[in-house]
Amino acid sequence: MGRVLFAHGHLLRFDRKQHAIGKPYPPLATITAAAYLRSLGHDVALYDPMLDDDTRGFAPALARARPDVVVIYDDVFNWFTKMCLGRMREAALGMIAAARAAGARVVVSGHDAADAPEVYLGAGADFVAVGEAEITLGELLAHMDAPANVPGLVFRDRGLVRRTGPRALLKELDELPLPAWDLVEVERYRAFWRERHGYFSLNVNTTRGCPYKCNWCSKPVYGNTYHTRTPDNVVAEIRLLRERYAPDRLWFCDDIFGLKARWLIPFSERVAAEGLALPFLCQTRADLMTAENVAALRRAGCAETWLGVESGAQSVLDAMDKGLTLAHVRGAVTRLRAAGIRIGFFLQFGYPGEGWREIEMTRNLVRELTPDDIGISVSYPLPGTRFHASVQAQLGEKRNWKESDDLDPLFPGLFSREFYRRLSRTVHAEFRTRHALRTLRGLVAAPRAVDKSSWKALTGLAELPLWLANSAALYAQVGRSRQKIARGS
Ligand code: SF4
Repeated sequence: MGRVLFAHGHLLRFDRKQHAIGKPYPPLATITAAAYLRSLGHDVALYDPMLDDDTRGFAPALARARPDVVVIYDDVFNWFTKMCLGRMREAALGMIAAARAAGARVVVSGHDAADAPEVYLGAGADFVAVGEAEITLGELLAHMDAPANVPGLVFRDRGLVRRTGPRALLKELDELPLPAWDLVEVERYRAFWRERHGYFSLNVNTTRGCPYKCNWCSKPVYGNTYHTRTPDNVVAEIRLLRERYAPDRLWFCDDIFGLKARWLIPFSERVAAEGLALPFLCQTRADLMTAENVAALRRAGCAETWLGVESGAQSVLDAMDKGLTLAHVRGAVTRLRAAGIRIGFFLQFGYPGEGWREIEMTRNLVRELTPDDIGISVSYPLPGTRFHASVQAQLGEKRNWKESDDLDPLFPGLFSREFYRRLSRTVHAEFRTRHALRTLRGLVAAPRAVDKSSWKALTGLAELPLWLANSAALYAQVGRSRQKIARGS
């Protein structure tokens, strides 16, 4: 059995927006794969640079682990690894070179490597594992000299890039061991979170895949499949995390948490009966927020849900194949708010067919429903999606964002990158100002209700000048765009 060093190239510091948000999570997919290889008898170690300034720690990690194989394995459960951020690719390529120089063989697994395996093979990687990679890794390590028989690989063979057959997805996720949490320097994460937020959160994954078909959403590994761990298996992990690491909160990092009521309800009952409920955050869909699902979320400890609302224009939702109506969104907000669960909206600007009118509809929806938080992005043509295919011919040389607040539409649309950046700043500034004003009104009515979060909300008043200045500039930009359209240029 071999010595295997797992690594990844996702550093919080590489992404200004994520660094400012300051909510780093350990690389859950990476330590799940590590746990699986360990269960086969391999000696595993982890190089986790998430909280580092750079990847200079990789050389000492190599020297300590003296691995036969280095596996650079993205945390595919963390949504922002999907964006193939340029600096993270560079970090991975640097680690490939260092690992090769140290005499290790190198395997890479992640969204970007699956999209562009030749880049990683060209940098010296021996194999790229595409698709769900745990079982592929186990088989590859057992048959390193006969990789052609291992499904799910891309590698060079006598100068040619060769692909083996597709890797079948795991149907029984409970067959995987619990993630190798012991490899993570949990105290570094705790210190970071406590300093920034006053609490500490860890991540848990309960499902893989999503059966919906939003046409901009990249699902290279799971397609439209959806597999779940059993409630018992997830409860065992929560118990372990609570006993060993005592997190204050959890993030269920599923694409869609609790999609099936027949899973969510027994899960919530188990968690409540065993006294394991912790405040948690999850992503879900507005159309799943039935009364019984919201009650189950509450029972299990849910403190905050993020909904993929995307747009306030039904025409844009329909163009995205979102399968969602604005009535779903309004109903979900009513029920979640009544249950005391905070609500975040993911919003997306710049989808083809969206003009200024549709942008205003989205802004009006936010004003009407007053979510507790918003996250804004610009439609990003991820390779392999229908949306990507529809704009592919118009894509310029730039294909990736360097950082998640790049907000470059990447294809020529109605408005420029500067416009979307200003729009994002304006909507955020308006949101925070209005939130502060509501808080202020509430405090005037009930002064005793003041707490730490009220003070934080009140700081939003400082954003008023930003809101006003950016709004004026935004309207001027829209006016110029209209003139341009009228001139036909
Ligand atoms: S519901 Fe979410 S995860 Fe599923 S396809 Fe739509 S955007 Fe993707």
